[in-house]
Amino acid sequence: MATKIEGGCSCGSLRYQLKDNPVFVHACHCSLCKQQTGSAFIAHAFIESFNFEVTKGTLNYFEGATGSGNPHEVGRCDNCSVAIISYYRGQRLRGVVKVGTLDEPEKFPPKVHAHVNNKVPWIEIPKDIPAFEGNYDFEKTWPKESFQRWTKAI
Ligand SMILES: [Zn+2]
Ligand SMILES: [Zn+2]
Repeated sequence: MATKIEGGCSCGSLRYQLKDNPVFVHACHCSLCKQQTGSAFIAHAFIESFNFEVTKGTLNYFEGATGSGNPHEVGRCDNCSVAIISYYRGQRLRGVVKVGTLDEPEKFPPKVHAHVNNKVPWIEIPKDIPAFEGNYDFEKTWPKESFQRWTKAI
């Protein structure tokens, strides 16, 4: 069990807590993730919904873009609209928290980089971290425990 992992939005009205370490953390360099963050890539922390708790404020849900065409809901602070968590494929049993909103994002480095064919050239991925040109197979790439946690959540 992790020590308290907390995060929040930029205005401070939305705060949340992860009750366990993220299942897995990856970075995505696709164009949609760039647009949605307004940054060069996104770092995503996978978490079961029972391990994600809003401790202050309210999330509003908006439709997010997807490359796959599957549903994508984004939970945003209802005051400043910063994106906190995404739910994919029309379910809310497991989500993906935006690592940049954690109080200590440096503790959760991405263990995989996806869609590096779209990566900006001025970011260099450490040589020991797996990088995939497009999507990748979670089951083949994640530690077994992580994949089991993820499949059990739904
Ligand atoms: Zn992406
Ligand atoms: Zn806010």
